[in-house]
Parts: sequence; C-alpha cells; structure tokens
Amino acid sequence: MGWSGISKCRLFFPLVLILLAPAMSGINMSLASENNMVVAHRGASGYLPEHTLAAKALAHGMGADYIEQDVVLSKDGIPVVLHDIYLGTVTDVEERFPDRKRENGRYYAIDFTLAEIKTLRVHERTKRGSDEVVFPNRFPLGKSSYRVPTLAEEIELIQGLNRTTGRNVGIFPEIKDPEFHQENGFDLSKIVIDLTASYGYDTKEQLMILQSFDWAETQRIRNDLGYKGQLVQLLAENGWGISPNTDFDMLKTKEGLIEVAKIADGIGPWINQLVTGIDSEGKPQLSNLAADAKSAGLTIIPYTARADALPKWADSFDMLLNTLFVTVGVDGIFTDFPDKAVANLKSSR
Ligand code: CA
Repeated sequence: MGWSGISKCRLFFPLVLILLAPAMSGINMSLASENNMVVAHRGASGYLPEHTLAAKALAHGMGADYIEQDVVLSKDGIPVVLHDIYLGTVTDVEERFPDRKRENGRYYAIDFTLAEIKTLRVHERTKRGSDEVVFPNRFPLGKSSYRVPTLAEEIELIQGLNRTTGRNVGIFPEIKDPEFHQENGFDLSKIVIDLTASYGYDTKEQLMILQSFDWAETQRIRNDLGYKGQLVQLLAENGWGISPNTDFDMLKTKEGLIEVAKIADGIGPWINQLVTGIDSEGKPQLSNLAADAKSAGLTIIPYTARADALPKWADSFDMLLNTLFVTVGVDGIFTDFPDKAVANLKSSR
C-alpha cells in the first residue's frame, strides 16, 4: 500500500525528475523529501486557538498539505471539530452552562445541542480547572471571537480555499473515542464516513486520511463500514488511558505492524516512540518502530512537532524536523507550526 492518492502536487515534481533523471545523472536527488507531508495539527494551532476556522484558514495559507479535524458529536448527532469529548479547557462552557456538568464535573459535548455549542466562545487551551494556558506564548486567552465549527463547515472552508487558491489541501479527520459515542447511542465513524463521502471523499485518490487510536474501530472502519479511503492507525502508550482496549505495545511490534498493514495505510506514532534520545555525540537514537513499519509497507506520520514544546533531545525545531524527515525518514508530520515545517522542507538538505 502507499500514498498513491496523496499530495498530487508534490508527487508531480518527482515524476518529472524521474523522467529527466538520465539527463541529470550526477545530481543527488532525494525523492523521499519531495513526498513529505505537513499536517496542520488542529490547524495552525501554534498561532490561533486550536480547531477554530481561523486556525484552519491560516494553516491553508501557510502551505499545509493536510489540515487535521478531531471529530466528536453534539447531542443531536452533528459532528463538530473539537479535540476532546469535553467542552471545558477550550470554551467558556463553565460560565455559560454551570449546571450542565456531569457528576464527574465535566461538560460533555454530547450533552449539548449544536445550537447550544454554537453559543460558546472558543479560547486558547487552558489547564483543567484554571485560567492558566497550556502554551504561554500562544494566542492571548479570551481575545477576539471564535466558535466551535461543525465538520461540514470546516470541509466547506477547506474546499472553498482550495477553489480560490488553486491549491489542493487535504482533510485528516480523527474519530475521537468511538466507544464513548457508541455508549451514547451514536456510530461516530459511520456518521463521519457518510458526511465526508457526501463532500466527495470516498476513495484513496481523494485527499482525505481518516485516523483513530482505537484498533478495533480502525478494523471496523475498513471491514464493516466499507471505508475505501486512506486510513491511519494512531499509536499511543498503554499507560495514557487512550483507547484502553487497544494494546499499543502489541501494535508496535513487528508482528503487530504487519497486522496493522492489512487494514491501514500508515501509522501515526508519538515522536518519542520513534526517537528515544540522543547519544553522547548528539546522534539521534531510533527505536525499531520506523524500520518495522516501513518493512510492513506502512507510511509514518508522527505527532506532534511543536516549536514551543520540543522533545528533551531536540535543541531546535529544525533539528527536530531534520531528525524526523531525514534520519527517521517519516512521510509526514503533525505540527502546530505548519509554516515552519513547510520552510524546513523547502530549505536544501
Ligand atoms: Ca488528533
């Protein structure tokens, strides 16, 4: 399998290079770097509040190849773009609907109609139960005015910008907590697959990649729901409490990755699952994950490259990106700073 339908604009150039190759012998060509994808993680979330249409428009303008949507449902079953099944930490739900929290103190998107969700103001992400922002140098808390977009509104924004700019930027929806949605009476994956198909995303040639942490759901998406597009299995750590029924230790093994490759086109690992650190000479130390995934035929798109929250082993954002793109050889990255990743890829190596 591969990314046959992905990034046509970037693929065209390497094809020209291949055709010209005999005339250009002696020139060191790196075709791999031409295929690298920049995925705007929650939009250009390093610059504007995550998952707002403003952050998505900026990501499009910055040259991202794909723009990510995390998808959850409202009470009336409408897919909205929100990182968590909760409305706290990125909206003013606590002030507007103080009585609507569940016993555990949390405000669930699925307890609010779309009309109610649309009354909320979105702000820069804060730590739970406080006004302290997660990333201190990002967009000022509570300034300007943003709303939670529906998935349809976001697709219409990206398709509209594709038309007006002549670019072809893809969508990258994530099915958030499918088990929770099932418990609340909704088949989130089916709703997302049907909605995206209605916007023309129904084959591997379309610029859509669907992603999920839940391995049982990834298999159901392919085997039971008949999804024919690109599909990525996300990889977490078992201790994180994400998709507790998924054994990520198993999926990360050589055998596990071979099973993943029967269903999905790629994996979305955590950066630190690929790079474990640097040695005393500053050389990146890699796990076996990338090599095993490649030999299974899987593409690799790790999360999340943040210029303002580097892994311990990276001394700059470009060092992080060079390690991922060149040393590990990933196919793309999720990043909060799509402009910096685009610039890194454009710079000569
Ligand atoms: Ca996500």
